[in-house]
Amino acid sequence: MLKNIYQVHPDILSAEIAKEFKSYRAKQVLDWLYKKFIYDPLDMSNLPKELKDWLIKHYNSNLPEIDLKLVSSDGTVKYRLKLNDGALIEMVIIPEDNKRTLCVSSQVGCSRNCSFCATAKMKLKRNLEVYEILGQIILASRELTPDRLTNIVFMGMGEPMDNLDNLIQSLIQLQSETGLSFSPRRITVSTCGVIPGIRKLADLGIKTKLAVSLNSAINVKRTNLMPVNAAYPLPDLKQSLLYFRRKTNFRITFEYILIPDVNMDAADLKALAAYVNDISCKVNIIPYNPSPGSPWRAPSQEEIEQFMSKAMIVKQAVTLRKSRGKDISGACGQLVAKV
Ligand code: SF4
Repeated sequence: MLKNIYQVHPDILSAEIAKEFKSYRAKQVLDWLYKKFIYDPLDMSNLPKELKDWLIKHYNSNLPEIDLKLVSSDGTVKYRLKLNDGALIEMVIIPEDNKRTLCVSSQVGCSRNCSFCATAKMKLKRNLEVYEILGQIILASRELTPDRLTNIVFMGMGEPMDNLDNLIQSLIQLQSETGLSFSPRRITVSTCGVIPGIRKLADLGIKTKLAVSLNSAINVKRTNLMPVNAAYPLPDLKQSLLYFRRKTNFRITFEYILIPDVNMDAADLKALAAYVNDISCKVNIIPYNPSPGSPWRAPSQEEIEQFMSKAMIVKQAVTLRKSRGKDISGACGQLVAKV
């Protein structure tokens, strides 16, 4: 089977082309793939026929297809993508002021079973390949043209650290100067707290911001909300985050989903403050977005305001994240690849 053209690091692709054609031809191909987001060789109008034929003979250029597009009243756009084997994933583009953020999926479904997450109900079907991860960025870039994507967050379907090799390869290609040339300061990988992945990113010197879905700083409570905490409990998670911070100097963001009657009382806040106060970080508060069949309701505006006013005891930057795309089930924790 032919390798997908986005599965190949641009430097390697460039070297392969330069073996057969003049080297400026390699740059032309990379420009089509990574600057103009054109991946069908037949559409690369300044290439000679021999090079188009050579590309078709050696590489597959199929990307996921946009199967469904839903536009929220707040401008958020959710896409359902069909992969080559028929599997479905979702990506979300969130425009805000001068920012255009893409929320990328890393797996079809997820095995981590977080109790507040709609994706968890799908279970894990499979990991995404590098070209399927990068393909979301290429498709989103085409959709946004003439504007550009400004930020990428690995917060879509799946736990990125459970698809670690492909995540790392995607990050390398994403940041490559000959590829998409995306600044690591504009990329965030979000994890439920998979410690080996956090440590490996740090050890390999992979540059990315890190977000950790925390949701409770009380160990037993967090295990009930997020089974991953049984394998990687809060104290060990903290050590891995301090390690990541020391090795990379990238700031960590804790995500805290506010769920009424679950993690919003004084003891929860006290534990949160104690957990985050000695690590350079920010805390993002996200009001819970219920999905069908969810056991919990969304917090009221008054409950959110009360929590935020008491959150002063957290000696870090605490921000309230505006929920986006709720009316199209595109908000945090709502992605399930069906409508
Ligand atoms: S929150 Fe993330 S890690 Fe947890 S089940 Fe959902 S997709 Fe998986």
